[in-house]
Amino acid sequence: MAHALSGYDGQCAHIHGHTYILYVTVQGRPETDPASPKYGMVLDFSELKQTVHRLIIDRLDHALLLRYDAPLAKELQAAYKKIVQTPYQPTCENMVLDFAAILQSALPGHVVLHSIRLHETATSYAEWVNE
Ligand SMILES: [Zn+2]
Repeated sequence: MAHALSGYDGQCAHIHGHTYILYVTVQGRPETDPASPKYGMVLDFSELKQTVHRLIIDRLDHALLLRYDAPLAKELQAAYKKIVQTPYQPTCENMVLDFAAILQSALPGHVVLHSIRLHETATSYAEWVNE
């Protein structure tokens, strides 16, 4: 995914991309019914992956994120399909808050979103922890 930080006083003001890595951690109690196909699971990994893909990855993979008032945002959106205009500066920190809100409302009632970590690089990341 690519982004640019409008008005930023450094290199990230330019359109550039990252191979983001997203970690999502949920909390809950494992299923205790031996007759359940989900016996021993807090949440089926495949269900979590589907939710994350549907709500975040499918929309943002290979997209360019721009703040809604970035120069040429509307023109770029008309010319390219995957331009996502955000109501916030698309920093790693703001994306983590956005993703947390999206996932909290989408998870099944028996699990709680515990944390989200979004890496821009191997050593640069933002993390949200449910407290
Ligand atoms: Zn960046």
